[in-house]
Amino acid sequence: MKALGAQVLLANAYHLRLRPGSEIIDAAGGLGKFMNWDAPTFTDSGGFQVMSLGNGYKKVVAMDEKTAAEQVVAKKDKLSRIDDDGVTFKSHLDGSYLRFTPEISLKVQHEIGADVMFAFDELTTLNQDYRYQVESLSRRTHPWAVRSLEEHFRQTESRNGKPYQALYAVLQGANYEDLRRRTSRYLAELSVNGMQFDGFGVGGAFEKERLGEIIGYCSSELNASGAEEKPRHILGISGVADLFAGIENGADTFDCVSPSREGRNGALYIGNTRINIKNAKFKADFSPLDPECGCYTCQNYTKAYLNHLIRCGEMLGSTLCTIHNEYYIIHLVDKIRQALLDDNYDEFKQAYLR
Ligand SMILES: [Zn+2]
Repeated sequence: MKALGAQVLLANAYHLRLRPGSEIIDAAGGLGKFMNWDAPTFTDSGGFQVMSLGNGYKKVVAMDEKTAAEQVVAKKDKLSRIDDDGVTFKSHLDGSYLRFTPEISLKVQHEIGADVMFAFDELTTLNQDYRYQVESLSRRTHPWAVRSLEEHFRQTESRNGKPYQALYAVLQGANYEDLRRRTSRYLAELSVNGMQFDGFGVGGAFEKERLGEIIGYCSSELNASGAEEKPRHILGISGVADLFAGIENGADTFDCVSPSREGRNGALYIGNTRINIKNAKFKADFSPLDPECGCYTCQNYTKAYLNHLIRCGEMLGSTLCTIHNEYYIIHLVDKIRQALLDDNYDEFKQAYLR
């Protein structure tokens, strides 16, 4: 990832709490030490994985841990139950019942030790109506943000001597402009024991076509509420058009599993399109995957070879395809950043999306 140009890695608190356990990562000296990554790290709160084990999503920002979600649908089993204090869920590994609350999430995230953490929030779906979304913010996501800051304060005090870990709030509110604006203003102004959120993550369910518009509502309210200088992260986005829409509406950072998940199954990003390398037409295609790409895979291997590896289920195929997709996304964002610096963003975007 470092050679590909990635500046930050994001890990998942839910998965790390289950395996190997946050106390193991704490004992190792934190997430960066544990995996020998000497650059910034993020953890999400675990809420997405805990709550996305439900079903009935129209379109959510990301669908992490698809295997667990698929298991739930297959078994018609409800794996998570939300109340105003937190969420009880069934482990996708061994079926045992576990609890996530703002306090537990923050304790786990402090032990994991990432540089940037996220407050525990309720992930709603587009199937839940306006009334539910209002209630979710007022009874859970907002009080949980207060409790996340309180626990962040306690952990920061008690783990004295450790480097400061930043805490971002998560902006929910589904497709509703008034709720997106209200939550942005509330969380930007929130202060607990003198601590405020250090940044903001735009999350939750919304129609993908409205991504730019919704990030725009959040950004303008954050800017008007004293948080103009604070970073904005977009959770679970890596579509090409979505990156442009996010950046022009104020997004600073992104994370997404798609480049690696799609890559390991042989879906590869070329230009502004995607190919399936398993397709029979690549079987005897001895040209590089993308002659324009500077990644290790494109510099060294042909489409025919990748076609062969993926068809055989060979792990090397998944690795090589993941390298290409991650390189593609990271370098696309590099090019967008350069276009902004060169003041020719609009021309670059038009040429790229064409
Ligand atoms: Zn490549």
